[in-house]
Amino acid sequence: MTQKVAIIGGGIVGATVAYYLSQLPGHEQQEVTLYDDGTGQATKAAAGIISPWLSKRRNKQWYELAKRGAELLPQLAREANFDNEVYQQTGTIITRTDEADLDALYLLAEKRRTETAQMGEVLKLSAEEVAQRIPLLTNAQPGVFVSGGARLDGSKYIDALLKIATNRNLTIKQQRVTLNSDGNVMMGSKLERFDRVVVATGAWMKETLKPLDIDVDVRPQKGQLIELSVKNIESHQVMPVLMPEGERDFIPFGNGQLVVGATHEDDATFNLEATGEAKDDLFRSAKQMIADLTIDKVTGMRVGTRGYTSDFAPFFGPIPFFNKVMVAGGLGSSGLTTGPIIGKLLAGSVIFGGQPDWSKFEKDINLYISKK
Ligand SMILES: Cc1cc2nc3c(=O)[nH]c(=O)nc-3n(C[C@H](O)[C@H](O)[C@H](O)COP(=O)(O)OP(=O)(O)OC[C@H]3O[C@@H](n4cnc5c(N)ncnc54)[C@H](O)[C@@H]3O)c2cc1C
Repeated sequence: MTQKVAIIGGGIVGATVAYYLSQLPGHEQQEVTLYDDGTGQATKAAAGIISPWLSKRRNKQWYELAKRGAELLPQLAREANFDNEVYQQTGTIITRTDEADLDALYLLAEKRRTETAQMGEVLKLSAEEVAQRIPLLTNAQPGVFVSGGARLDGSKYIDALLKIATNRNLTIKQQRVTLNSDGNVMMGSKLERFDRVVVATGAWMKETLKPLDIDVDVRPQKGQLIELSVKNIESHQVMPVLMPEGERDFIPFGNGQLVVGATHEDDATFNLEATGEAKDDLFRSAKQMIADLTIDKVTGMRVGTRGYTSDFAPFFGPIPFFNKVMVAGGLGSSGLTTGPIIGKLLAGSVIFGGQPDWSKFEKDINLYISKK
């Protein structure tokens, strides 16, 4: 029998759920509709750094999830035939100015590499070696290079996956929708009934779940990035992503494009205005790396709203007291890394049902979701 599935939200989570619902065994029985209005989407604004292994975060479940997410992406890239503009393993460099900190980071990288093939090669680099890999830098610091680090273009990822899914069982409706108290979808005053509903509305989840009398621990956080035009170094078309200590991340694209970001603004709610303050702050950080940079090299800004929880950890799965509806939210600043694996797990659960045990990857979902 055909199962009618709605996905509300077409960011990285919603798009991945839609993709796997069109590919996993059992997809023939799924009829899927994705609703998305695209406003403020975090996925399209994101910097796209995939390099969770040396994070300072202590949350074990988050690390397991992010590690699995980083492993899934190259598989998915092969399966879905992504080109280098969607996903590319460029390597990442994480810098430290203090020698002892650099040694500690390198030891951590070596330890984690033995457990995680995806990290690839790990090297301790001097400042000169960092500058050789990213010749744009005039002020390089020593760092640790991880060859498995990658860059993902959120916007192109979504387009690629939704195109594949639309060729099978997906219909896309570019519209803002609400839930009714039964967990069905309202397009204005028009009711659309479903067997399962996946809510992947990112920072907007609180509002989406209100009609079910459910409160959720998700808040919006504004993120801004600047795009710059820099020297095109033909011999270095693929440069690693740089995560400099105490500065903003630095993502060189090799063809003269550079992205620097991002801000983490907790008080801006859903405001999507690109601000001069953020531009100046991000430009100052870029200039720390490239001394002769001038402000006219800033060609654009990107703004998005992340959803995050009180402990910065994501949550996902069927709502325990409202099983028809599944949620995935609170992906925070690492959702391009965790979103694909969360989407795959959710799609499996939509098809195969049951109450999966994902305690390895997340804390109890009841910590984030409660009845009002
Ligand atoms: C500036 C910035 C930089 C970032 N950099 C990185 C990075 O380098 N690496 C990394 O791993 N992560 C990064 N992130 C985090 C990552 O982008 C997010 O965690 C992730 O994209 C969240 O995905 P999502 O699918 O949960 O939500 P979103 O991408 O926000 O998608 C939610 C969608 O739901 C839609 N929606 C909401 N309500 C409704 C409704 N009622 N009806 C229809 N549609 C609705 C929204 O319009 C939106 O399109 C960054 C985020 C930002 C903002």
